[in-house]
Amino acid sequence: MKFLEEYRDAGLTKKLLKDLEKLVSHEWTLMEVCGGQTHSIMRSGLDQMLPSKINLVHGPGCPVCVTPLELIDKAILLASRPDVIFTSFGDMLRVPGSNKDLFSVKANGGDVRILYSPLDSLRISRENPDKTVVFFGIGFETTAPPNAMVVLQAKSQGIHNFAMLVSHVTVPAAIIALMESPDVQVDGFLAAGHVCTVMGYWEYEPLAEKYRVPIVVTGFEPVDIIHGIMKCITQLERGTFQVENAYARSVMREGNLPAQTVINRVFEICDRPWRGIGVIPSSGYRLRPEYSQFDAEVRFPEIQSIETKESDLCMSGLVLQGRMKPDQCPTFGKECTPQTPLGATMVSSEGACAAYYRYGRLFQNNKVINQDLNG
Ligand code: SF4
Repeated sequence: MKFLEEYRDAGLTKKLLKDLEKLVSHEWTLMEVCGGQTHSIMRSGLDQMLPSKINLVHGPGCPVCVTPLELIDKAILLASRPDVIFTSFGDMLRVPGSNKDLFSVKANGGDVRILYSPLDSLRISRENPDKTVVFFGIGFETTAPPNAMVVLQAKSQGIHNFAMLVSHVTVPAAIIALMESPDVQVDGFLAAGHVCTVMGYWEYEPLAEKYRVPIVVTGFEPVDIIHGIMKCITQLERGTFQVENAYARSVMREGNLPAQTVINRVFEICDRPWRGIGVIPSSGYRLRPEYSQFDAEVRFPEIQSIETKESDLCMSGLVLQGRMKPDQCPTFGKECTPQTPLGATMVSSEGACAAYYRYGRLFQNNKVINQDLNG
């Protein structure tokens, strides 16, 4: 397949790793922002093949993982209502709320439906005029354009029984929060290629300059990731701090302007709590007031005041800030597994804990005891 197989080439990967070995003379900590990159790194074994001086830590770029517990509990409340059809991407159904998850609501008779496109929510709305269809609109800047389009279409088609529970977050605000935290030590970032495909990378330029940190737009295949790491290490060894694009086959500096226009038409910036991390100022999107009729939190004000209870054992906040690796969590692979998750990072398809578990990084007494249990 063009633009895919060549970026998974084992010979080229080995050659680039040798080149990287020659390049690095100091110890550096790099963070890959996106959970999709984390999974690619673990799946290909790059974390075990990189030069030992390079420490890769995993960032907060997993939308399912950072959706706040309060929103999960609100989703569970809405999905439990007989007058609601709750629609969501499949990842969200296993995410633990304070007491249960959306799957258990579905198992107990709630009308919870898994979608592959948010547009399907509108079809379900038309087919069920006596119910309100609520779509769980989560994600980074990548999913914001299609979710915004659904709201625009609902308005233009006069669909009144549709609402969205919004939990959108943005990457640059997360990088600022990480760099401002005294507990986070990151020398360079691999920025998420798909987010930059939508938003471009001009937003990162003042951040690289202010925090004196290289930020390299990076793709998702092993060769892409080594390419991004090489650019980052080259800058660190030279002492330069710029934004570079190592994913030029998809990303332009200004990004996708029509997609940005749609986002800005429907959403506005707001402060947003991130699960395990807390409120990050100006880090999210919410519906603009002119679309409040589609805002599930406005349509169902009774879900506003709820009490949440996070697991005392889950340390995913540290994992999402690169302050702890999943296999350093005391419950990893013991109390917490994909079958018995204590945190969202263990069930999301982009979660770091799920990646470590799925790709066999379960250690006990320094011996690998789990070799890719999930195939
Ligand atoms: S292993 Fe489980 S308990 Fe530990 S941080 Fe990950 S999700 Fe949370």
